Amino acid sequence: MDSNKKGINTICTHEGSVEDILFKGATSPLYTSTSYAFEEVDAKRYPRYFNTPNQAALSKKLAALEHAEEAMIFGSGMAAISTALLTFLKAGDHVVFQQTIYGGTYNLAVTQLEKFGISYSFTTGWQIEDFEREIRENTKVIYIETPSNPLLTITDLEGVARLAKSKGILTMIDNTFASPINQNPIDFGIDVVMHSATKYMGGHSDICAGVVISSKANMKQVYQTAICFGGNLSDYTVWLLERSLKTMGIRVMEQNRNAQKMAHYLMDHKDVVAVHYPGLESHPDHALAKSQMNGFGGMLSFELGPEVGVSEFFKQLQLIKPSMSLAGLESTVSAPVTTSHALMSPEARAAQGINDSLVRFSLGVEDMKDLVADIEQAINKVKSMQVHA
Ligand SMILES: *Cc1c(COP(=O)(O)O)cnc(C)c1O
Repeated sequence: MDSNKKGINTICTHEGSVEDILFKGATSPLYTSTSYAFEEVDAKRYPRYFNTPNQAALSKKLAALEHAEEAMIFGSGMAAISTALLTFLKAGDHVVFQQTIYGGTYNLAVTQLEKFGISYSFTTGWQIEDFEREIRENTKVIYIETPSNPLLTITDLEGVARLAKSKGILTMIDNTFASPINQNPIDFGIDVVMHSATKYMGGHSDICAGVVISSKANMKQVYQTAICFGGNLSDYTVWLLERSLKTMGIRVMEQNRNAQKMAHYLMDHKDVVAVHYPGLESHPDHALAKSQMNGFGGMLSFELGPEVGVSEFFKQLQLIKPSMSLAGLESTVSAPVTTSHALMSPEARAAQGINDSLVRFSLGVEDMKDLVADIEQAINKVKSMQVHA
């Protein structure tokens, strides 16, 4: 059966489960063994070989979700990303990173790659010319993230894939922010897709996991590296992740709807000076986002006006939680200046358009009227405190 022909929610619910042959139960039985009798001479089952029954089944669901041949599940997003990078890069190679990438990946680049003799550069923007400018003779990988954190810029998937293919370079994407519900980069020619499954895939703020998804040939190479580094996910959590993925479609679609409504509400708010969301027609890359995304996602960012300080605003919120994490059922906000981008110099942040009044907003599934009421009361309280001060 060609799973790519099935609808996304059908894949989420049914694809890649372990059949309960003994009792015909509705859910996958959990196999916790670290030791399996040899079935065939060279087919050893072992958690760190990424081939236990639960890992093997869930990998099928993940591959189907990204329209790919194979997937592997890791203990964290960073375990997935580091394993994938070190699979396709070796001493003497060069990698081009998009300017705005996840902080942990940035740290991996600047603190680890040199040890392996791998050189890197960051683009100064996210246009095709920005990537082209950084390519060297020994460039082996182009690494992108779209929509980006925290300004939700959009990188042209097809454009980057075409540029890389013309020079024999492999393309990798961190697709965490979009989730497979909103974006399937392999359809646009991107080679390797990675997710922090801690975010939309887990969705309930109780799982730390990661995923690498690609062609059979690429995954064969990832496998060789992965079994040496040993970053597999415990089967207990694999089982829990399967349960989470069943509702990913309906969760993310609700988060998309909330983000779109919230973006419009904030646009019209007199104490908000800018809103960054690819679903807004005013977003500079709205047309590009529309052409490569199935939904605009549950993440947005906005800038508060001069009368409302970010930290005061956070203190007054009652329902929406100030938090580092994102993509859960609960709405969360964070200030990139003091969290994800705190280690950058103010000048470097300014160059990327990240200022002190910027708020990153991860929309949950709460009712819009309650989210709006919370923001309204928080802004009013901050402003009234200033009047009385
Ligand atoms: C959280 C996150 C990661 C890292 O994932 P972990 O599961 O925390 O290791 C990577 N990329 C993006 C975009 C993330 O949001």
